[in-house]
Amino acid sequence: MKKARKLTPANRCDSCDAELDTKRRFCGARCTEIHLCTSKGNHKYRHHFVATEFQMMIRAEAAAKPHGIVRAVVNGIIRPVHRLVGECVCVTCGTVGPWIGGRGRQQMQTGHFCSRKDQSVLLNALNVAVQCAGCNQPPGSPNEFRLWMINCRGVEVITFLESLARKPFAFTREQLVDKRLACSKRLKAAEAKMKGI
Ligand SMILES: [Zn+2]
Ligand SMILES: [Zn+2]
Repeated sequence: MKKARKLTPANRCDSCDAELDTKRRFCGARCTEIHLCTSKGNHKYRHHFVATEFQMMIRAEAAAKPHGIVRAVVNGIIRPVHRLVGECVCVTCGTVGPWIGGRGRQQMQTGHFCSRKDQSVLLNALNVAVQCAGCNQPPGSPNEFRLWMINCRGVEVITFLESLARKPFAFTREQLVDKRLACSKRLKAAEAKMKGI
């Protein structure tokens, strides 16, 4: 009888079990993220990985726009504010600061119009805008934010977001992973645009 040939066990992806031709643990970025989400749990992954990356992407995309005038609420009324590439404007007070690494009041954050506690609006770009660290302190300058939303996005958007926020919604692991991968791609593109690449 012929001796059975000894087979070396194939290397497989830790997430999807696909056969791999290298010694890598995962077959690609998506499986790496699936594993991260599974090990952290949806809640932690959503807040510490997806939401933070989404918020950073919002600031980077605002800062990557060509320099010029944007509208912001300054002392309670809508005014034009000038910004340069790489800078963001706080929509509720008009403070201008670098999109990343600003200090004190010039530290730019991403504020939520409807509470980010509701998952249905947490990662919706229409629900967020750049705010300075001062304005983004709870409760987050709601009157100025509403005024800015009415002027810059319209009442229909507010109605849409407020009804969306009331709907119970929970992201699946796959949705969270896809969202993070998409945000990460857009963030990199915005950073490259700022550097003129
Ligand atoms: Zn895989
Ligand atoms: Zn502000």
